[in-house]
Amino acid sequence: MNLSRRGFFKATGAALATSLAFELSSRSEALAAEPASDWKLVNTEEYTNICCYCSGGCGVICSTRDGELVNLEGDPDHPINQGGLCPKGASMSQLRNIVDPATHETIKNTNRKTKPMVRRPGKSEWEPIGWDEAASEIARWVKDTRDATFEEKAGDIVVNRCPGIASLGGSQQNSEEEYLINKMMRSLGVIAIDNQARV
Ligand code: SF4
Repeated sequence: MNLSRRGFFKATGAALATSLAFELSSRSEALAAEPASDWKLVNTEEYTNICCYCSGGCGVICSTRDGELVNLEGDPDHPINQGGLCPKGASMSQLRNIVDPATHETIKNTNRKTKPMVRRPGKSEWEPIGWDEAASEIARWVKDTRDATFEEKAGDIVVNRCPGIASLGGSQQNSEEEYLINKMMRSLGVIAIDNQARV
């Protein structure tokens, strides 16, 4: 069949318009149909958080209902990941909930620690400890270590440093918290300060 250039555009334009009209009408019907189940995030509260796994520090949105985590996804407003998560970060909800391999039901991750634990010198077992007790013990260890290892001078040079303590921050601290951690460590004379996150 011989088609002029003008005829060709008329024919393809008509075919495109017909197919578009059909597509729009199908979509309208699909949108008008009753959903098979409630939207997953209906009646949830959103909290922003930061992935705990690597130094990337990707932002996540945690959705909870009645105190239970029901969804975790990348935060599109976060400047680092802009909504994306790698497979490890996307599985972070498993820190709280896992799928029981036997029943395929969602159950609590029994390995999740919700209280501080301590392993005493010479012991191989960890034992639970209260938050206040843990904070007091940490403060006592920091003070004793600082006093025992503080160096005022190296030869004739004043150094005021504490080589007995190192500080390693996690990826869940933000810039302001890291600033305060740095200030506190510097005030103790700590010079070995680093952070897991590179943000
Ligand atoms: S989502 Fe992946 S890349 Fe991002 S912080 Fe977590 S582990 Fe790192």
